[in-house]
Amino acid sequence: MTQNEYDVAVVGAGFTGLAAAYRLAKKGLKVHVVEAADDAGGLAGTFEFADGTRIEKFYHHWFNNDVYVPELVAELGHQDDIMVMPSRNGMYFNGRLWNLTTPLDLLKFTALPFWDRIRLGLMVFQVRRIKDWKEIENLSVREWLEPIVGRNVYKVVWEPLIQSKFSVHAEKISAVWFWKKLVLRGSTRDKTGGEQLAYFKGGFGRLADIMVAAIRAKGGTVSFGTPVIGVERDSKRVTALTTPTGKAYADRYLFTPAFPIIADMFEGTGEDEWLQRMRRVRYLGNMCLVLRLNRSLSETYWLNVNDPGFPFVGIIEHTNFDSPENYKGSHIAFLSKYLPVEDPIWNYSEDEYADFALEHLKRMFPELDRSWVQEYRMWRSEYAQPVTERGYSTYVPGRDTPFENVMISTMAQVYPEDRGTNYAIREGNQVADTIAAGFTISLDHRRPI
Ligand SMILES: Cc1cc2nc3c(=O)[nH]c(=O)nc-3n(C[C@H](O)[C@H](O)[C@H](O)COP(=O)(O)OP(=O)(O)OC[C@H]3O[C@@H](n4cnc5c(N)ncnc54)[C@H](O)[C@@H]3O)c2cc1C
Repeated sequence: MTQNEYDVAVVGAGFTGLAAAYRLAKKGLKVHVVEAADDAGGLAGTFEFADGTRIEKFYHHWFNNDVYVPELVAELGHQDDIMVMPSRNGMYFNGRLWNLTTPLDLLKFTALPFWDRIRLGLMVFQVRRIKDWKEIENLSVREWLEPIVGRNVYKVVWEPLIQSKFSVHAEKISAVWFWKKLVLRGSTRDKTGGEQLAYFKGGFGRLADIMVAAIRAKGGTVSFGTPVIGVERDSKRVTALTTPTGKAYADRYLFTPAFPIIADMFEGTGEDEWLQRMRRVRYLGNMCLVLRLNRSLSETYWLNVNDPGFPFVGIIEHTNFDSPENYKGSHIAFLSKYLPVEDPIWNYSEDEYADFALEHLKRMFPELDRSWVQEYRMWRSEYAQPVTERGYSTYVPGRDTPFENVMISTMAQVYPEDRGTNYAIREGNQVADTIAAGFTISLDHRRPI
């Protein structure tokens, strides 16, 4: 890697880094994407089961009101690869599975008394009245929601979800996180109140590969298996990225991994206050068991687990969304668990975790037999979910850094939206525009201004 061969070095080939690099390359800048893993896509990346079936490590879909994804996909000439399909949602509560796809299903949810069901249904309208999220930023989800829906509805429907999503941090989560989810999900409904979701033919990893090819086609470089372990600097400018195989040089640098990873890279640079602000943002880990089954568990795609006796936030049977035909006839199900990395379960081996998870799954689906399981894989991400505590906007670091040629764009900054590839693409586009504005570009000459 020779000095100043590149205009911009982008750390991370997740959707933020790829979107930014693609946009920069399109603007005529020479980009170098430096990625620790051996493939692209980050949290939305895919893997192959032994039989060659390719699927995400962590379940993924898009919402039909996402805008940045379809724009980018169309730009890449793959608009026909977006599949929009109905989603069947449900809830596991009190030892049984409840279908909760439409408002009519809600009326039949007899786990709640009639008037509570009405309150739950009306909640959507009350939530939509909030126009400025700052009004509720200092309230926790419970503090805001319990007075609206009542203690019983909160306890049955929302508390278990917040608890399994945010674990030890549940009571600190800002109401904004929940409000934004409800507003976004409310507007994905069709006329019958059902929900249409979208997916990319061949999976999100295939889209990431298409983006890598597009970056390379525009003269960019993408280096896999190259973890950045630190930076070299000259006063307030970064001069190189250090990696186990050498240095990577550029005029400007964009970092897209989680805050604590970036903070480690800048350790020892003397910018302690900034490092502390990055480390102030907490995350939860996710352990996801992906099962390849020879039969289906249920008819539901997205099953929220509201029964506190079960250790999952949800069971997502992907092939109740995208047909098993596209997976060699297999049925694919994800069992998702969020947890702090201090939890002893975090250190379970793949087999230990599968035994633990399957035992609980069998309690939910008593007919399940181990012979249904053709293969399984367990994926772990330490920085899976930023913890958006009360007052989050007051302490989350911005894109600018103490280094004049360095910017950060990371999943924890899409607030008040929650993480998602749609917002990763939005952020990647925006940060690329800001970086590109720092260059004067002519046909044969690029010079930072
Ligand atoms: C369980 C789960 C379910 C989800 N479901 C959905 C969904 O249904 N729909 C949706 O749109 N989104 C979903 N998301 C969110 C989505 O995956 C993320 O918002 C998005 O992928 C974030 O992209 P990113 O590029 O910002 O971050 P990341 O994907 O984390 O990318 C960061 C990249 O940096 C790399 N990196 C880390 N350290 C280094 C280093 N030292 N040197 C070089 N590279 C490094 C990583 O390997 C990674 O490739 C889900 C996430 C999880 C965890």
